[in-house]
Amino acid sequence: MTDSSESRHAWARPTDLDLTPLTADVVVIGGGSAGLTAAGVAASQGRRVVMVERDRTGGECLFTGCVPSKTLMSLAGRVHAARGAQALGLSVTGQPDWAAVRAEVRRVIDSFERVDAPAALAATGVQVIAGEAAFVSPHVLEVMHARGQRTVTAAEFILATGSQVRVPDVPGLRGVPFLTHETVFELPERPEHLIVMGGGAVGCELSQAFARLGSRVTLLHTGARLLPRDEPEASAAVLKALRADGVTVHLNAHARQVQTRRVQVQADGVQVELPGQAVLGTHLLLATGKRPRVQGLGLEVIGAPFTEDGLTVRPSMQSVGCAYLWGAGDVVGGPMFTHGATERGTLAGLGSLGPLGRVAARLRAPAGRAERIPHVTFTDPEAAQWGLTEAQAAQTHRGRAVVVEYDFSHLDRAATENAGEGFVKLVAVRDRLGSPLGLQVVGAQVVGRRAGELIQLLSVTPRLGIHPLRTALLPVPYPTFAEAVRQTYLGLFTQGEHFGRSRPARPDAG
Ligand SMILES: Cc1cc2nc3c(=O)[nH]c(=O)nc-3n(C[C@H](O)[C@H](O)[C@H](O)COP(=O)(O)OP(=O)(O)OC[C@H]3O[C@@H](n4cnc5c(N)ncnc54)[C@H](O)[C@@H]3O)c2cc1C
Repeated sequence: MTDSSESRHAWARPTDLDLTPLTADVVVIGGGSAGLTAAGVAASQGRRVVMVERDRTGGECLFTGCVPSKTLMSLAGRVHAARGAQALGLSVTGQPDWAAVRAEVRRVIDSFERVDAPAALAATGVQVIAGEAAFVSPHVLEVMHARGQRTVTAAEFILATGSQVRVPDVPGLRGVPFLTHETVFELPERPEHLIVMGGGAVGCELSQAFARLGSRVTLLHTGARLLPRDEPEASAAVLKALRADGVTVHLNAHARQVQTRRVQVQADGVQVELPGQAVLGTHLLLATGKRPRVQGLGLEVIGAPFTEDGLTVRPSMQSVGCAYLWGAGDVVGGPMFTHGATERGTLAGLGSLGPLGRVAARLRAPAGRAERIPHVTFTDPEAAQWGLTEAQAAQTHRGRAVVVEYDFSHLDRAATENAGEGFVKLVAVRDRLGSPLGLQVVGAQVVGRRAGELIQLLSVTPRLGIHPLRTALLPVPYPTFAEAVRQTYLGLFTQGEHFGRSRPARPDAG
């Protein structure tokens, strides 16, 4: 038996079901990463802030996204490492206990109560009320909950309602039971054969985690390579790793039809028909992307335009049609990450503070642009990317783009940790004179252990407008993975056995 989702994480459910009308300076709709950040900014400046949350404060990242998926990856990594300890004379066999895996995921989620619970937010000056919010007239929200409805009036509003699963248009799909990130972490039993649709970050991470935790996994991806926003070498490395973990990967796999089929004597499973073959599994997981949650919010009533790609906002996150509405997080579309949500939440929070805050939001906006924020896929090896890829740089800066490649085989710390394969690829652009003084780094990719940390170090130089030579000359503690950053940067200026190797960028690289 599993406990109901109502009672689980009860600490995160707002208990304020009052019906009395409320007035506030700032109202935040949605208590996920974006809403929490925005509310924190506004409350820290003495604004009276009300947050409306229909489910649980903490949002996707905490309950169904980053936290459970990274915990699952970490547990899967521990199982994998234990099995690999044979080289040290230890022998580990069998499968991990699924109940223990689930309990650990829940324990980690619950450890966030101290910061994300409505009670904790109240201590910071944010009043959290329960219910589903929609605009009914300018500056007025109606909040519906089990006991009735109440109105909330405010000067400024922040929309942070997140996103929802995008169900692809495949015949039969809506008629079969499928899992999403909202249900997969609560499975009462380990899936025997999990079919994962979607080879982006979520699909790759969960495929590897479930394979390492003992499920048979088949990954179906419509594209020619996994992780299409990363460099092709990263896609190839992750594909190789997944296959090494026993995941069956089908690329260019356009599902034609999905239907229920008997897989065992007493249990139904799901069959996905591909051109020329069919895959039959016990469970189907959709990791096919998400779309912003903009419907049913009364945005038409306040003149705030939106499309299926999200709320239409200026770079400062102010709605283009409604001056007192700010967007934050997945609801404004673009790449959907927690660090993007918190950055946009900060902009929205600043914007809600009045004229000075609006100036601050406008000044800060360029650094928060989606393409300027790195992203990470937390597979083993990790894949992390920032900025332009080699092909994009070569096409944009014809003849002036260069690439430096550095392999982890030169990295002493990778050797002492037996870290396996890894590399850094740095993309830079020369000025028209070809002088080293005009060199600018425009993109980076890392694959390997600690890639998520290394991408921040690699991208900090261009993001802060520092000349790459300064990073190339900066001493680094030995032996660390961070040495890869300096050695790669050195490759922009000089050739050497242990430095990154440079070459002209190719427009057809991927
Ligand atoms: C499996 C998975 C793994 C991920 N891993 C990572 C990762 O490792 N790193 C990373 O950066 N990102 C990751 N992400 C993405 C990340 O979870 C999201 O980008 C982020 O949580 C979005 O935050 P948000 O505040 O915009 O939306 P949400 O967290 O979805 O918050 C929206 C909130 O609004 C509430 N709401 C909606 N409508 C209403 C309404 N009408 N009235 C009141 N409340 C409402 C919802 O209940 C919800 O609580 C992952 C996503 C998934 C699915």
